[in-house]
Amino acid sequence: MAGERRAEIDGRRMKAIFDALNDFGRVPDKAGWNRPGLSAEDMAVRRWFAARMQGEGLRVSMDGAANVSGRLGREGAPCVMLGSHLDTVPSGGAFDGALGVAVALECALAMRDAKVPLVHPIEVVATSEEEGRFGGMLGSQALAGLTTQEWLETAADADGVRLTEALASHNLDPAGVMASARPANSVRAFLELHVEQGPVLERASIPVGIADRVSGVVHLGVTLRGVANHSGTTPMDMRADAFAGLAEIATGIPGLISAQGTEQSRITIGKVELSPNFPHTIPGRRYSQSSFGMRKALRWAGCARVCAISSRRCRSVTG
Ligand SMILES: [Zn+2]
Repeated sequence: MAGERRAEIDGRRMKAIFDALNDFGRVPDKAGWNRPGLSAEDMAVRRWFAARMQGEGLRVSMDGAANVSGRLGREGAPCVMLGSHLDTVPSGGAFDGALGVAVALECALAMRDAKVPLVHPIEVVATSEEEGRFGGMLGSQALAGLTTQEWLETAADADGVRLTEALASHNLDPAGVMASARPANSVRAFLELHVEQGPVLERASIPVGIADRVSGVVHLGVTLRGVANHSGTTPMDMRADAFAGLAEIATGIPGLISAQGTEQSRITIGKVELSPNFPHTIPGRRYSQSSFGMRKALRWAGCARVCAISSRRCRSVTG
């Protein structure tokens, strides 16, 4: 197109931003980065990023959910948002989230440097608490107006720290989170560059893919009740072994998905507690937490299978 201006990505500048983000939360002597959502490291990296964007002349703000934004172009008009998250899972990788944030800022700076006329304002955003420390995706839910007062007041992390406490430690509160919802039609599009977190593209040697959906997750907690008994004296045909029930459920997952699921379906048994967890005792109780791909028919088929196996192997199942 005549008069078109080409924005050139400055790879060195982008890497400098990326490296600076990863100066926060690096775990000495261990692999990985620790920037749990709303931790001191997480808030420190947000402040650094806000200052960096301000230094570049973007109009910077932090909302009541700790989302950091930097805007180029007109106020008021619907924007194109670019960004990702800055928090990490415990011992997370360097690229997860931080790459998308660094790339977003570099794209905005490249357009600014090339004086590309902006049809829509550009907003670079580093969303907060994406990794689910408190069981949600606080920042993006707040932007989308999908947080509820009830969840904000009851959510807690695995150590029992309440979300309200974590917010208060940074002078934030639930009312501010609720007020962070963007008005309808104020965001025209959201673009996020993210590292592949599975092996599919890498195995196929495809450098980049475009996600056309995100996975929905359903968590089920299931308790299988067997009968705890002596492992040496209880004959095999007189056992109600909760672990055996769980093992059967686990080995049945691929068949269940091929019969009732789709290529996108996943079922994972991710957390298990065995009781009494003693070498010479038949497990009387096994608790497992599973996450199911969000397909109703499959979920119910999964539940039915859990119940069927449990009634054969164990005394009862609840969940
Ligand atoms: Zn991520």
